Amino acid sequence: MGSSFPKNIISGACVDLSFEGKGVFKGEGQTVFVEGMFVGEEGEVQIAYKRNGALFGNIKKLHKVSPNRIQPRCKICHACGGCCFQQLDYQSQLAFKSEKVREQFRRLAKMKAEVAPCVGMDDPYFYRNKIQMPFAKDDRGNVYCGFYKSSTHVIVPVEECYIEDRRSQPILSACKKLFKSMRIEPYNEDSHSGILRHVLIKTSYYKPEIMVVIVTAVDSFPGRNNFVKALLKECPEITTVIQNINPRSTSVILGEKERILYGKGYIEDSLCGVGFQISAKSFYQTNPVMTEKLYEYAMKAARLSGEEIVFDAYSGIGTIGLIAAKGAKQVISVEIVKQAVHDGIRNAKRNGISNFLMYCDDASSFMVKMAEKGEAVDVLFMDPPRKGADERFLKATLKLRPKRIVYVSCDPSTLARDVAYLGKAYQIDAIQPFDMFPQTFHVETVVALSLR
Ligand code: SAH
Repeated sequence: MGSSFPKNIISGACVDLSFEGKGVFKGEGQTVFVEGMFVGEEGEVQIAYKRNGALFGNIKKLHKVSPNRIQPRCKICHACGGCCFQQLDYQSQLAFKSEKVREQFRRLAKMKAEVAPCVGMDDPYFYRNKIQMPFAKDDRGNVYCGFYKSSTHVIVPVEECYIEDRRSQPILSACKKLFKSMRIEPYNEDSHSGILRHVLIKTSYYKPEIMVVIVTAVDSFPGRNNFVKALLKECPEITTVIQNINPRSTSVILGEKERILYGKGYIEDSLCGVGFQISAKSFYQTNPVMTEKLYEYAMKAARLSGEEIVFDAYSGIGTIGLIAAKGAKQVISVEIVKQAVHDGIRNAKRNGISNFLMYCDDASSFMVKMAEKGEAVDVLFMDPPRKGADERFLKATLKLRPKRIVYVSCDPSTLARDVAYLGKAYQIDAIQPFDMFPQTFHVETVVALSLR
């Protein structure tokens, strides 16, 4: 690769951080994106590759080090790349996040708004309640698991991880040992041999419940009963084990079909005093401590008086809608994943919430239908995936004219774009980032909007 560049090693300085948290390094007339390099640092960078016309590189030598750089706890932080912000002190991480949200609104929304300082965690480690790892076998026949190195299919072996729930690693270690001794082979995408693809673990924050999902490439899982028995013996804290079958070769981890091998097939947890059941395929926020803070903020922003018709779009297992229900007249939720809707309906029942309806549909189609019927909505909560809402959804929103909108987003750029669209009729009351993903560049934001 080196030969395609006029010069492989460049001297210069890091002048900014990109939206993906990479150092923007400038030197010798070139701009290079460098993971784990921070503003003010000077040194030499080795160019590694070019993608979509941009250069990416690694630190070769640092002559000047940022005062905000700290020693990362994780030894494989550089190789894994999942949380390279471990090298940046926590206050700087939070400052980066507020600034990125501010920048996106300046650039894309061109709307006047103050962005509040990012709300952080008291202890920004071991927070993740969900972990999913691909499995493979090395040349010596040892089974290992890890994280995909960013934008590749290379698995970086992981033995310990400082952001995931502490209960996960011992379970993964037991899985590795048992897969090897019971000859349960990792699936090989090239030769299509083996069966094992991923292990997914979901832990409950408030209850001693843990789900383990074994994702296989084929339905047949010889010896699965013995495997489950042995796993439970090693890790009696596991409360349910599921086999999920994913025969497709896509980057989506879970397949359609699943089989409960042990326990009830879901875990239970609670947020803001409301209990939830969570299935393997249902979305559930990954940082329970921060989710409660975020939801509390979202509820305040909704200013519910008990009289409102609330609409919760992209509702997952109904978390936001069910928490809002006690302050509203009626809640209507829509979510596209069947299993999540099933969980949502059960969650309403288990909490004795009767002013809650949930539909399985595409949020945009549902909104369009509501707008056509001229339904009344007072407050809209929307929490779309990273790509944001589409124009159909936003257009229908402008037709429905809810008095207030509370937009929860994990991507500041699509958030700013969508808020700009809604800006025709809405004013921004507040923009509040939350650090749902400490040690990574990701940021979650709540925007409160009201009808002009
Ligand atoms: N509000 C929930 C979930 C947010 S994540 C919570 O806080 O837990 C976004 C959710 O949108 C996911 O559950 C995903 O399955 C769902 N989703 C994705 N595309 C959708 C679409 N087109 N229509 C409806 N829901 C969708």
